[in-house]
Amino acid sequence: MSRIRRVAVIGAGPSGLYAADELAQADNVCVDVLERLPSPYGLVRYGVAPDHLKTKSAVNVLKRVLERPNVRFLGNVHVGRDLTIDELDRFYDAVVLANGASTDRRLEVCGEDLHGSFSATDFVSWYSGHPESDIGRFALNATSAVVIGHGNVAVDVTRILAMSPDELRHTDMPNHVLDVLDRSSIEDIHLVGRRGPVHARFTPKELTELGDLANADVIVHGEDLKLDKAGEDAISSNRNLRRNYEFLHACGARVPQGRPRRIHIRFYRSPTEIVGASVVEGVKFERTELNDAGMALASGETELVSAQLVLRSVGYRGVPISGIPFDQARGVIPNTAGRILNRGVVLDGKYVAGWIKRGPSGVIGTNKADAVETVEKVIEDLPTLSPAPDPNPDGITGTLQGRGVSVVTWSGWQQIDAGEIALGESMGRSRTKIHHTADMLELSGRAVAEEGK
Ligand code: NAP
Repeated sequence: MSRIRRVAVIGAGPSGLYAADELAQADNVCVDVLERLPSPYGLVRYGVAPDHLKTKSAVNVLKRVLERPNVRFLGNVHVGRDLTIDELDRFYDAVVLANGASTDRRLEVCGEDLHGSFSATDFVSWYSGHPESDIGRFALNATSAVVIGHGNVAVDVTRILAMSPDELRHTDMPNHVLDVLDRSSIEDIHLVGRRGPVHARFTPKELTELGDLANADVIVHGEDLKLDKAGEDAISSNRNLRRNYEFLHACGARVPQGRPRRIHIRFYRSPTEIVGASVVEGVKFERTELNDAGMALASGETELVSAQLVLRSVGYRGVPISGIPFDQARGVIPNTAGRILNRGVVLDGKYVAGWIKRGPSGVIGTNKADAVETVEKVIEDLPTLSPAPDPNPDGITGTLQGRGVSVVTWSGWQQIDAGEIALGESMGRSRTKIHHTADMLELSGRAVAEEGK
């Protein structure tokens, strides 16, 4: 009988769990999913907007992966801090990195770090109750906010800024976030992109949701919607672009209803400076014109949009892991179809999947095909890879315990899950996120105690 091959997947987000699912279907493979946080599901839990319940229901599919008998969840384990990549070689025949893109791209303009200027990922983490986000990070005492970028994350943060807590109480948003939204003094939100309406990256479903908000008028200026021949061709040949354009056009033609908040969607404006002495007072934009390739070129004409809050939403970026090559320019791990490359040479037994492999693009489902491609390579290589010297499943957990790491097991996570549902129900909600790692670990500890009985 052939021996069991042990594979570690780093990251319990969609790409890691899709990879674990594929691996677990191969003969004689056991998978450990190591996750930095006490909870699984990555961006589905801490990135997908709380009111996007249908997208969040991806959890039901991902959960089944962690319920597989040959897949083990090891949460609250920070690879690179609690143990090194090299140490993993002792316990696993192969390692798949699926740790996503956890930080944001910088704008590289003056004033980016002023008080009141945040990355959109910072805001998303805060309203999603991410344990590494400071509870008091946002006060929302600005009256005017600027959101820079025209992707789906920019639309998400704009929508959340414009919503009332009553519109979000049915979600799992932590109570402290709802309290801040309740006290929010935001009146104007400027959603500003450097190119035109046919170049914006938001998808129609996400964009048109802005038109359904009870609290906000959407304002679009006709001058921003003028199309050249290339733009007309684009909207006649691409249904998504056409739907976006029709929505924007309808907003431009509509008389504002006098709702308490206004979302101004502006095009052809590239940020050149975030202005303020010590706190944000506004954003300076340069008007742009597009060249034949659709790139934004500065026109020399500038304007200042007054604001006290800035959310920079210009894309996510991967973070290097010590001991693994990293492409600083692209923010990804260099690879060929998922096999990690070190200066162009394949690194034996090391693989990559998801955003850290291809960059931050696509929807949750995109990660499935991406993970399948990587796992094909793992399965192809496993027979020739050196076997792990310590294949006993207790080897890694014993080492972590010896280092004082409180590993959250699958039953530990189920206790946290039940705790969030109970907390929500106690407040008339279906579920409420628990923010602090210590509280999650305390709940998961009950499972550890019961397992030890
Ligand atoms: P994105 O789609 O890549 O959008 C980034 C935006 O930032 C673009 O409008 C880009 O403009 C702009 N930008 C980049 N550098 C800039 C600069 N220096 N100055 C001004 N603007 C700049 O990124 P994202 O919104 O973070 O989304 C990441 C991925 O997650 C996407 O695939 C997205 O669809 C997905 N996502 C999906 C959902 C959903 O389905 N509901 C929700 C959230 C995220 P240019 O085009 O001109 O470069």
